[in-house]
Amino acid sequence: MAAEEATETSYVETVTVSCDGGGGPLGHPRVFLNLEETGEVDCPYCSHKFILADGAKEASGH
Ligand SMILES: [Zn+2]
Repeated sequence: MAAEEATETSYVETVTVSCDGGGGPLGHPRVFLNLEETGEVDCPYCSHKFILADGAKEASGH
């Protein structure tokens, strides 16, 4: 078990998400990430992983 800093994972229902590091000590400028291609993406700043939840719909703007 590597003693890496904890990488959190979030399941989201939209193909676009924003991450700002949670506003804690590891916070970072808000970035928008797109899960449309692979269904998952890692935040380049804090390595927080976002996974597109099963049955998620495409963003409709509604
Ligand atoms: Zn982040």
